Amino acid sequence: MVDFALSEEQEQIRDWVRTFVEREIKPLENEVLRRERTGEGAGLTADEQSRLRDLARKSGFWGVQTPVEYGGMGLDAVSAAVIEAELGRSFVPFYFGGSADNILFYANADQRERYLLPTIEGERISCFAISEPGAGSDAKAIRTRAHRDGNDWVINGEKTFITRGNEADFCMVFAVTDPELGANGGVTCFLVDRDMGWRSEYIHTMGEWGPASLVFEDVRVPEENVLGEIGQGFALAMQWINSGRYLLPARALGACERLLELGLEHARTRETFGAPLADRQAIQWMLADSQVEIEALRLLVLRAAWQVASGKDARHGQSIAKLYGGIKANEIVDRMLQIHGGMGYTRELPLERWYRELRLLRIYEGTDEIQRRTIARDLIKGHVTVGRV
Ligand SMILES: Cc1cc2nc3c(=O)[nH]c(=O)nc-3n(C[C@H](O)[C@H](O)[C@H](O)COP(=O)(O)OP(=O)(O)OC[C@H]3O[C@@H](n4cnc5c(N)ncnc54)[C@H](O)[C@@H]3O)c2cc1C
Repeated sequence: MVDFALSEEQEQIRDWVRTFVEREIKPLENEVLRRERTGEGAGLTADEQSRLRDLARKSGFWGVQTPVEYGGMGLDAVSAAVIEAELGRSFVPFYFGGSADNILFYANADQRERYLLPTIEGERISCFAISEPGAGSDAKAIRTRAHRDGNDWVINGEKTFITRGNEADFCMVFAVTDPELGANGGVTCFLVDRDMGWRSEYIHTMGEWGPASLVFEDVRVPEENVLGEIGQGFALAMQWINSGRYLLPARALGACERLLELGLEHARTRETFGAPLADRQAIQWMLADSQVEIEALRLLVLRAAWQVASGKDARHGQSIAKLYGGIKANEIVDRMLQIHGGMGYTRELPLERWYRELRLLRIYEGTDEIQRRTIARDLIKGHVTVGRV
């Protein structure tokens, strides 16, 4: 028997987050749109974020996947996907507090106090820096170099498109420590405070994300700031990317649900030629196709999350979910914008904003082409069998 039901606990979590989004986040949407229209920023202020985070914390929503011993909820991947989908129902960029990048949990005792715990508490902000101007999809081609000098490492190089790179006060930077070995044992991850000397520059994008380029010029980092082991950085980077990929299409799933609701509402109420849009087959097909794709996406996301939660090799399933989610979210937002006509194109409604935001899903954390490459390679090499993923 196949059981498609969420557990009772997961249903309660979903309902609580949905209510939180309805009561606390959606009321901020018009203000967030207004700010973007007037150039006052594209999201919430730091005060608004922390007020919402503190409010959620009072109800126990803190550190969704952070282990219980660190004060988190320690939830499994399926529950995390359910939460992410609910948060995705608003375009307001909100995440619960209490989390840290998964690889930061490899911190040793000293790093734990200086980096991991303050990050979980929200006192410090991290960023993850592997991409470079010459190395995006081909992450193995990174050139940022770290060489030893006494008890220190000296880092030189440039990183690009680093999320939170402008706000972070430390970064997990990946640098080549042994050029001969390269990604096969010659890349190391360093925890580098901003005041050790790296600088960042804002990159303007079509969405709310303002990633940064980071410049390292003779940045001196003590040996004790190596995260994990020397030479094991590339494996850490892949772990960072591979263990949470399902969360991206999960967020898109929530967005698609809300977009379909907006499209439905408009189709029911907008009349042209003496009848509601909802009476037109051209519009009905857009609604129907969107619902079919949303339900397919839900199953792909939940299955990938279940594979992660049950310790199975989830890379293939996550690639499928991410690829499908990125493509379908972009098609669905386009259809719903179309149903809204001219209003869909304005900055009065969230459709135009979502249209720009969702485009990113086809690029970061592995582009569509790179997901296809993974899927095809797994098939061709026989790592997966057709019909048995
Ligand atoms: C907003 C934003 C936030 C980001 N955040 C981070 C972050 O926090 N940390 C970080 O390290 N990086 C981050 N990135 C970088 C992101 O992961 C890369 O942009 C992405 O991996 C693609 O790399 P690229 O831009 O260099 O494109 P390229 O690798 O140059 O690819 C260009 C195009 O060619 C295609 N292509 C490449 N290789 C192949 C191939 N073998 N076969 C077929 N097609 C191919 C790609 O799919 C793409 O369409 C972020 C990017 C953005 C836009």
